[in-house]
Amino acid sequence: MAENPSVTNFRNYIRIRTVHPNPDYDACANYLESQAKELGAEFQKIECVPGKPIVLMTLPGRDPTLKSILLNSHTDVVPVFPEHWKYDPFSAHKDEKGNIYGRGTQDMKCVGIQYLEALKRLRKEGAAFLRTIHLTFVPDEETGGDEGMGMFVNTPVFKKMNVGFGLDEGYSNPTEKFFVFYGQRNPLPVMVRCQGQPGHGSQFLPNNAGEKLQKVINRFMEFREKEKNKLSSNKDLRLGDVTTVNLTMLKGGVQFNVIPAELCVGFDVRLAPSVNETEFEKMISVWCEEAGEGVTFEFRRKSVPQVITCIEDGKNPWWDAFSSACKKQNLDIETEIFPASTDSKYIRMLGIPALGFSPINNTPILLHDNNEFLNEETFLRGIEIYETIIPALANLKP
Ligand code: ZN
Repeated sequence: MAENPSVTNFRNYIRIRTVHPNPDYDACANYLESQAKELGAEFQKIECVPGKPIVLMTLPGRDPTLKSILLNSHTDVVPVFPEHWKYDPFSAHKDEKGNIYGRGTQDMKCVGIQYLEALKRLRKEGAAFLRTIHLTFVPDEETGGDEGMGMFVNTPVFKKMNVGFGLDEGYSNPTEKFFVFYGQRNPLPVMVRCQGQPGHGSQFLPNNAGEKLQKVINRFMEFREKEKNKLSSNKDLRLGDVTTVNLTMLKGGVQFNVIPAELCVGFDVRLAPSVNETEFEKMISVWCEEAGEGVTFEFRRKSVPQVITCIEDGKNPWWDAFSSACKKQNLDIETEIFPASTDSKYIRMLGIPALGFSPINNTPILLHDNNEFLNEETFLRGIEIYETIIPALANLKP
């Protein structure tokens, strides 16, 4: 049986090596330009940072003065360890079950192609939309997004787009349900420096960097344990509702018989949206003070205040349009806070409501993992899902 052309298109996109640390963004932009042509959309390539193109496709609405719809996806993918893969991660190999293997099959080249294929089909059927639809294909999401969507949202081009609502990535759900993300946690990596008196490793010297480090680690780990228990003891909570802390970096020491003058420890912290950042910072200050003199800390990333998109029925017309379209197709959705970070944060920061949604169910969560795959039937179903969701949004009456 001949392959569905939408699937072929998806597999071709997977084969473009937009993998860090040297993503082939040029090949990707060329490919997307041909897609824009096929769709009949206006095409623009914007470079906020040279060599990192943002592709913008636009389908003008019947009333271009109305707020537009943004369908966002990122083009880059994370590195692979090919020796742990069953097939070449950029071959888009399809096995006998229809599982398509490749880096980006879930995160998130599937979604980029699904938007395009859904729109191609709708336009073939003669659909015209009330509101303008913009598709953005952005670079560098996997390295934080600052040089992709982060810069793009501050350009005159973005302002002119007049975006009213955005759709961006979610991730797969292993059950029959689909995840919808309406916010995300605030990543706040923190490095703690413990300074003390250096000396001979044979002594019990006071003012000891190691003792201070131990106290700091204990405080962070006690906090971690509390959050872990909070999550496991309450069935209504999801990972995104609690704060995670992980010790991810340790630095210091020169040789066994020398007590070091400094030891450093780094933690990956992701604040739940309910946590006040200033309060959290105060708590760390107290911990450092208690650990002793010369213990200081710094956040290693400018925190991005997290804005949540309203998902209360009747209070946000975009949400109502999205959720009714899901209901119409009998999609069982689970609403959550995204536990990690996506480009949606830049959109929500501007006060624009945005939802994270990848139409993937009954599939293991394999983003960033070995043997990432997506079944072609699941992929094709996703196109149909967007064929209902996109018109519901783009035809939303003001
Ligand atoms: Zn992603």
